[in-house]
Amino acid sequence: MDNDKPREECGVFGVYAPEQDTARLTYFGLYALQHRGQESAGIAVSDGRNIKVHKAMGLVAEVFADDALISGLRGKMAVGHVRYSTTGSSLLANAQPLVVHFQHGMMALAHNGNLTNAARLRDELCQRGVVFHSTTDSEIILNLIAGYKRDGLEDAVIKTMMDIRGAYALLVMGDGKIIGARDPYGIRPLCVGVLEGRYCFASESCALDVIGAEFVRDLRPGEVATISADGLSFRQGPVGGETAHCSFEYIYLARPDSTMDEINVWESRFRMGRQLAREYPLEADLVIPVPDSGTPAALGYAQVTGRHFAEGLMKNRYVGRTFIQPTQEMRENSVRIKLNGNERILRGKSVVMVDDSLVRGTTSLKLIQLVRHCGAREVHMLIGSPPVRHSCYYGIDTAERERLIANQMDVDGIRRFIGADSLYYLSEAGLRAALRNRDYCTACFSGRYPDPPPGEQSKNDLENIYK
Ligand code: SF4
Repeated sequence: MDNDKPREECGVFGVYAPEQDTARLTYFGLYALQHRGQESAGIAVSDGRNIKVHKAMGLVAEVFADDALISGLRGKMAVGHVRYSTTGSSLLANAQPLVVHFQHGMMALAHNGNLTNAARLRDELCQRGVVFHSTTDSEIILNLIAGYKRDGLEDAVIKTMMDIRGAYALLVMGDGKIIGARDPYGIRPLCVGVLEGRYCFASESCALDVIGAEFVRDLRPGEVATISADGLSFRQGPVGGETAHCSFEYIYLARPDSTMDEINVWESRFRMGRQLAREYPLEADLVIPVPDSGTPAALGYAQVTGRHFAEGLMKNRYVGRTFIQPTQEMRENSVRIKLNGNERILRGKSVVMVDDSLVRGTTSLKLIQLVRHCGAREVHMLIGSPPVRHSCYYGIDTAERERLIANQMDVDGIRRFIGADSLYYLSEAGLRAALRNRDYCTACFSGRYPDPPPGEQSKNDLENIYK
């Protein structure tokens, strides 16, 4: 079922705090960012010269199951990474942080995002004799920084930002400092926090909360921040035409308790539900969410329409990523292993079911069948975002365009496919209103890419180039 949602492709965390156990702080920061990547995790620590790293495939708690692994990582600063890999690139070699030892010392990199000119840059680097050890675009960034490094680390990062295109939040550790950088459009998130006078970076503010750090501010588009023994400093790098924060972070990807670029994620989802109610009010008996990400929007919808809110679907929060597969006879019911319907609540009712997004439609189909099986008289499906018709090139795995149901059929066709009595998607204007009409990327809905990908290469094209 989780395959029916877009996937965030990484989370990053970094801290400079010589008085503290930086690896342990990073572990807890990554723990809070686990939703941004579950395939691999890693932490690199530095004493100012040398870098030690531990990384492996698995969840943060699995990779660092032995406390000695954390205790063995001693350093005055650390960077960490969680990764979700796209198809075909699930390799330990791709786990981060990436660490290099080169003529100017050691350097570690943690990267969230996706470069749209990766293929060309990789070709150019290969022609110059650079050898790649992974299939990630992050290694391209690392090599470019290494090539400029004689100019000093900040300048090397800014020069690299001039070469690369696409979306990124970077943490670069070397020369006794950690440098954070955000892409020129501010597509991927990155913020700074302060803990007892020392500074840290995180993809989302929830990771600052868990270590007791205070939020300082988000990096601006194209901005570079440095944390070191000298404290915190900022420099402006290249800026895109206009700001384009990823709207999907608010719709589904980010944790609801995070605040990014001054918008709280839970509150924005609640406003998406209120906006849905203004656009498509229904006289139903019950409003139920698809848990958990549909819950704030369902609450917002119920508040505006005055309809009863109920948890008609209950999620089993203890289902891990792997469980024994059900037998063929049980497979029909396999959705109920993760989500079960509450028949006492649903029987005889007309139900508005609210979800945050609809990508392939396969989950919605099963859930509507389940709600009907529990005796619901009518099921109306409301989606807190517009139809996803275009692929993302900026670090979110939204699936290939041909697998996006809204790219294959119109809204009524989707309604019939999922078996709903009615189906309504939030308008793009409604989404923008819920996001306070700031500047957001909505390319997966509208096809208007803030930084058009060269040659419209699909993610699979890029994967194939790397293989
Ligand atoms: S295309 Fe969609 S998922 Fe990708 S950055 Fe833009 S809004 Fe986010």
